[in-house]
Amino acid sequence: MRHLLSINDLDRQGIEQILDRAKTFTEVSEREIKKVPALRGRRVLNLFYESSTRTRSSFELAAKSLSADVINFAASGSAVDKGESLKDTVQTLSAYRPDLIVIRTPFVGAAELVAGWTTAGVVNAGDGKHEHPTQALLDVYTLRERLGSLEGANIWIVGDITHSRVARSCILAFQMMGAKVTVAGPPTLIPRGMEALCEVRYDLDDLAEADVVYALRMQNERMTDSFVPSLREYAARYQIDGRRLHPRQVLMHPGPVNRGVELAAEVIDSPQAVIGQQVEAGVVVRMAVLYDLLTGRNAPKPAITTAVPA
Ligand code: ASP
Repeated sequence: MRHLLSINDLDRQGIEQILDRAKTFTEVSEREIKKVPALRGRRVLNLFYESSTRTRSSFELAAKSLSADVINFAASGSAVDKGESLKDTVQTLSAYRPDLIVIRTPFVGAAELVAGWTTAGVVNAGDGKHEHPTQALLDVYTLRERLGSLEGANIWIVGDITHSRVARSCILAFQMMGAKVTVAGPPTLIPRGMEALCEVRYDLDDLAEADVVYALRMQNERMTDSFVPSLREYAARYQIDGRRLHPRQVLMHPGPVNRGVELAAEVIDSPQAVIGQQVEAGVVVRMAVLYDLLTGRNAPKPAITTAVPA
């Protein structure tokens, strides 16, 4: 693997390899000195054009735990505010010779464009409403830890499917791992043609059949219209609360949670919720992705080479 732009860059075996490696990295986090020299001397550039709490901090921690050097670049406060384009920014920062660029932007397809402008490996950390492959990988990791396997598991993804890059990557990854996926939400928040990809429901009447309930946030930042009459009415029909969530079900959410909208307080703190485990998995899974991209068969050549006299 040269870049990770979409879950479709992987197959089931590729996902399993990354997750098996991630599991071996859990041991590093348990040490007193939480660092191994695996990526010493390699440079990782975190390029974030959109806000992020979990993804950005866990990529930074992942790179540092593997001893890579990290450059954090946030678009706000940079020359992007002065009108510098994405291409010019990437080309400018390429002068620092990064081995890997982790990029998040509000633009669909931006990570793929960046992959065409640089010799570094590229990880898509979210491109608009398109994909967020490392989120899906950490979700599969969390479910493997909880259920043993996703084979035959019934997973319901509930909420704003239309604007969710997490939904797109998770549907692909969960199905690749053998799960049956159903999406549920208001008709205005489920893209047309979704039936070709998975089961579609417009209510939660049969939610009891799910083994896993994956709730999504309303992606207001990507909405140009109002898609639901009000958040209160949305919550009345689609909120996962103590009444709707069964004790045997697993509850997931990618964060950030809007308490009282897609999730009621009582389920966020329930034993069924694995939201904290998802965040924890983010570090080891991203360590495994960085490791794979920088040391695998198709890894880019190290940016800095030492000339050896003939
Ligand atoms: N953190 C996830 C994302 O960046 C989910 C969300 O923001 O609701 O897509």
